[in-house]
Amino acid sequence: MRTLIKGGTVLSTTGGVLADVLVTDERVTAVTEPGEFETADTVLDATGKYVLPGGIDAHTHMEMPFGGTFSADTFETGTTAAAWGGTTTIIDFAVQAKGTSLLSTLDKWHEKADGNCAIDYGFHMIVSDVNDGTLKEMETCVGAGVSSFKMFMAYPGVFYSTDGEILRAMRKATETGAMIMMHAENGIAIDELVAQALADGRTDPVQHGYTRPSALEGEATSRAIALAGVTGAPLYIVHLSAAEALSAVAEARDDGRNVFAETCPQYLYLSIEDLARPGFEGAKYVASPPLREKRHQADLWRGLRTNDLSVVSTDHCPFCFKDQKELGRGDFSKIPNGMPGVEHRMDLLHQGVVAGEISLGRWVEACSTTPARMFGLYPRKGVIAPGSDADIVIYDPAARQTLSAETHHMAVDYSAYEGFEITGKVETVLSRGKVVVSPDGFAGGAGHGNFLSRDLCQYLN
Ligand SMILES: [Zn+2]
Repeated sequence: MRTLIKGGTVLSTTGGVLADVLVTDERVTAVTEPGEFETADTVLDATGKYVLPGGIDAHTHMEMPFGGTFSADTFETGTTAAAWGGTTTIIDFAVQAKGTSLLSTLDKWHEKADGNCAIDYGFHMIVSDVNDGTLKEMETCVGAGVSSFKMFMAYPGVFYSTDGEILRAMRKATETGAMIMMHAENGIAIDELVAQALADGRTDPVQHGYTRPSALEGEATSRAIALAGVTGAPLYIVHLSAAEALSAVAEARDDGRNVFAETCPQYLYLSIEDLARPGFEGAKYVASPPLREKRHQADLWRGLRTNDLSVVSTDHCPFCFKDQKELGRGDFSKIPNGMPGVEHRMDLLHQGVVAGEISLGRWVEACSTTPARMFGLYPRKGVIAPGSDADIVIYDPAARQTLSAETHHMAVDYSAYEGFEITGKVETVLSRGKVVVSPDGFAGGAGHGNFLSRDLCQYLN
């Protein structure tokens, strides 16, 4: 089965070039001068369109347990929505509950995802219970294709690890070559600010932002970098939102350290003003770290240009406004933390290209190529080249669309980007050679997506 994508501008980290792409079964077999191959079983005309490697969203939470409920997207609905938006790989988080083992956790997440995903998927492991057994199991996880471990300096009593526990896990990461991913916010101080706010009767959603100041993200980021330095472990800061945290990362990178960071579209486009929307509306925008003051956005865009921020992920963790966010009415600390976004990352970052914030090559790099290399999937994913999986997006850069809960495919009753006018739109998506989204609609299905056993981070060797 041969598919020819003709006449498009093929994108990579260095920009675009007019070329045709030949796909044989699940792989790319040739990238040629236009017109070199005349025909194939299927010919897709990409004239005037971009042809880019499928997006890789390295930070999603499908069906994630949180505060007595679960994030609203299943692996099926979440990966289907991702495909609609031009993302062909997700890396989701298996979540260790305290008192359980990493391997039983991994089994559980395999069970949830196996046969249900519309696109390929991998896992990171959330470590919330550091002990001798867990540390030993980290080695087995790496062997099983789960080579990155997320830890939390926030959420005391739930996911929180002490500095000592973080140090122990980092030592193990140094031994095994694994990556430690860090949620860097000072949860001990934050819990105190939350308790004070509630005692003062300040209960609205915007208090979520006021009680998690950017200085406490900066502090935790610096501390994580120091701990990683002491142990020699590489470090990846997840969902960086604050200028203070970015400075800490930039300083470490200038020193030649293996410190990496991602940001998310919500921190580039939304702000604490959304959290302060009237009534309970702000609950839609509760996520951690919180949306910041607008002044941080210019710094984050600069970080994306300079590679101090090298990945854009979504932290997709949707909770329905009607029956889930509602849990925190009258007490902001009980609002489930998370926002939907897996479907819109490619479009939202394309707006950065339209606005001149980032180049076309940088769009592809931050959304596809770098996540592939960061998490051991390159060159199978993240590039259109002979031998790579044929995960390909045909993108119409001139099309116009308006984002809305009425039209999105995520299983959540609101859009954080309701009414956003977008220039550019996904036209066709191939996942391992199969057309899963076409101008006629969704053509994929649950079970097409395979588990991806990942290698170690490819920036370290
Ligand atoms: Zn997350």
